[in-house]
Amino acid sequence: MSILRDGMPKTEERVRLRLMLRGAVQGVGFRPFVYRLATDLKLFGWVMNSPQGVLIEVEGDKESVHAFLLRVEMEKPPRASIQSLESSFLDPLGFTGFTIRESDGSGATTAVVLPDIATCPDCLRDIFDPPDRRYLYPFTNCTNCGPRFTIITTMARFAMCEACRREYEDPENRRFHAQPNACPACGPQLALWDQAGAVLAARHEALLSAAAAIRSGKIVALKGLGGFHLLVDARNQDAALRLRKRKHREEKPLAMMVPSVESAKAYCRVSDLEERLLRSPESPIVLLLRRESGGAPSAEAAERPEAIAPAVAPRNPCLGVMLPYTPLHHLLLRELNFPVVATSGNLSDEPICTEEQEALERLGGVADCFLVHDRAIARHVDDSVVRILLGRELILRRARGYAPLPIHLTRPLPPLLAVGAHLKNAVAASVGPEVFVSQHIGDLETSESLTAFGKVIDDFQRLYEVRPETVVCDMHPDYLSTKHARACGILTEEAQHHYAHVASCMAENELDGAVLGVAWDGTGYGLDGTIWGGEFLLTTEAGFERAATFRPFKLPGGEKAIKEPRRAALGVLYEVFGEQLFKRRTLLPLKEFSGSEISLLHQMLTKGINAPTTTSAGRLFDAVASIIGLRHYVRFEGHAAMELEFACAEARTDARCEFSIEQPESNRKSQIENRKSLLEVDWRPIIVEIVGDVQRGVKTSLISAKFHNTLVEVIVQVAKQIGQQRIVLTGGCFQNKYLTERTVRRLRQEGFHPYWHQRVPPNDGGISLGQAYAFIRKNRNQAFMQSQSIEEGAAE
Ligand SMILES: [Zn+2]
Ligand SMILES: [Zn+2]
Ligand SMILES: [Zn+2]
Repeated sequence: MSILRDGMPKTEERVRLRLMLRGAVQGVGFRPFVYRLATDLKLFGWVMNSPQGVLIEVEGDKESVHAFLLRVEMEKPPRASIQSLESSFLDPLGFTGFTIRESDGSGATTAVVLPDIATCPDCLRDIFDPPDRRYLYPFTNCTNCGPRFTIITTMARFAMCEACRREYEDPENRRFHAQPNACPACGPQLALWDQAGAVLAARHEALLSAAAAIRSGKIVALKGLGGFHLLVDARNQDAALRLRKRKHREEKPLAMMVPSVESAKAYCRVSDLEERLLRSPESPIVLLLRRESGGAPSAEAAERPEAIAPAVAPRNPCLGVMLPYTPLHHLLLRELNFPVVATSGNLSDEPICTEEQEALERLGGVADCFLVHDRAIARHVDDSVVRILLGRELILRRARGYAPLPIHLTRPLPPLLAVGAHLKNAVAASVGPEVFVSQHIGDLETSESLTAFGKVIDDFQRLYEVRPETVVCDMHPDYLSTKHARACGILTEEAQHHYAHVASCMAENELDGAVLGVAWDGTGYGLDGTIWGGEFLLTTEAGFERAATFRPFKLPGGEKAIKEPRRAALGVLYEVFGEQLFKRRTLLPLKEFSGSEISLLHQMLTKGINAPTTTSAGRLFDAVASIIGLRHYVRFEGHAAMELEFACAEARTDARCEFSIEQPESNRKSQIENRKSLLEVDWRPIIVEIVGDVQRGVKTSLISAKFHNTLVEVIVQVAKQIGQQRIVLTGGCFQNKYLTERTVRRLRQEGFHPYWHQRVPPNDGGISLGQAYAFIRKNRNQAFMQSQSIEEGAAE
């Protein structure tokens, strides 16, 4: 079974899978089909029609449940069309049969705005069928596919022609009431512009000229579904380098669009679950392991295609791959028949461009020409990024295909707005028990992203008619999201950053009560005003206690240390060696500084000037990356940690370092806020061992694996000392596949019950959901009292 390719040992693990299917799935024999499939696979559970679609829960052994997930789509009734499939694995409930449940009508009836849907097979046939009137027409779609969220309210300017109108009004037609119905006679058209906006070609000629430009190594800006993409030939190293230089994107991996699944398989290893994801209506970027990075190419890849340029994803064993998801992409990729880089049309961390004139201004120095059209984009939406981890989807960037679908909570919330954090920002708004999480907005550092942030908030409130009574934000006083919240003029509530991470993971796993949340990330504002980031939070009925953390260390240079792991390394090494550190000039991070820099840093560390204290796990990763000489500077967030993860892929070892867990004297004295005492993980022995390994010339891959393995044991040991069964893994560090998979496996071995993210990112993209859930956890008694008194009032 291919599921085992994900490295999981075969177990008799019992799981429950919940599926929400939206689209043409009602009145087409879907429920009887699900019944047959589930009973055929000996799964228990139920299926039900809800106002939003078909809701399914199946429970059984893991392999059969995975088979169900694959087959429900592949073998669906002929008239059914799935426009969105959301899956979550939840704790089994012990179902004992399979039933078709009657719709109880109690489900949320909030009108849900559907995400954009990848081109369906029927429309694909139309555009490649010469006699069809939509032959080669790039804006073809039907009721089952096409843009939704990105174009709502923008198609009004195109009046349908007679033929389109007839389809639109015919209940038997696939385009009956298809909002953006269009054809070459009446709909949007393509044009190719030069950098000054002069028209070079129109209609299909524009597409052919754009393809020719890509073939010759040029950079083409393409107006897609939710914004502009920048495209180059992914096999052309010079073109990829030029794109990086012009876009100011030094090393962060670039995503690719490949012509077909076969092409993806030629470059990468693709499991059944990954293939499902590539072909899904959500059509995200899927992180796939390259073929060359492990094992010999299989028979499928016998004909080796031209290699992907190293500049696409330098030193990265994975490639971010997606399939064409609009007719325009299909036509272009069919014409090219080779993979292209398809990266967001923006400069480094700004939001994606959505409008031609804006694109000419902002991308004028980047793209050589612009393939544009006259269908407006109402909302910017980036491509989503997903990876398969432990046989489940893990969304790393939640945008096209997933936003703005809600996360359903088990209890209703008062209307509120949650504004997220600072990096990878996304906002959320609640309507009853539904929390609508916005598309990825980005880092709130440029004026463009701040504008986008304000726009999304306004848009969300309009779209869902939310009048928030409360706005929830981070505790960091300098986050622009916090400032925005405080300037809103409505009641503001704060949720501690790492608690919001934990609450986010709890919300999507439907957990309440006590859990031990392991929240590891780069930076978050702590209750004591210091930088937290290696936290073990024990949740209580309404909040949390900080149960354990890492021994704090100093970050010389503060903010600068985020971009320079060598600084984090110095802070960590100073904590280990004290003054002796400055005599050990052979340590690799020290060699990275000049003599005068060292004396300045020395002062910072000894006097504590501009050297804030942190417990950040992310910075600990950075420090280790620098100590072993892997990376002293990062080009993007999480860069060093990512390379450290990649480094251990080659090592097969269970080796680990020593560490200790203590209850420091200082903590025992100052337990004013915390009822329980705070444990501290002393990581200094780990660093001592790593420094020794480097001196002994131990391989980087081995040291890296040892470091990862040790962190896993840290979690296991803390979990044992705390004694809480349910462990929630969250924060940017758990994007790390090696760390997460190993932690889950070890925790299970020790009898714990681990949970991790699936539908919202473990990184700060998931914070807004957590803020909303933290609010309801804190205020539920009040909220309950209020709703009771309202009911009592109504009864009078
Ligand atoms: Zn279609
Ligand atoms: Zn028409
Ligand atoms: Zn965070």
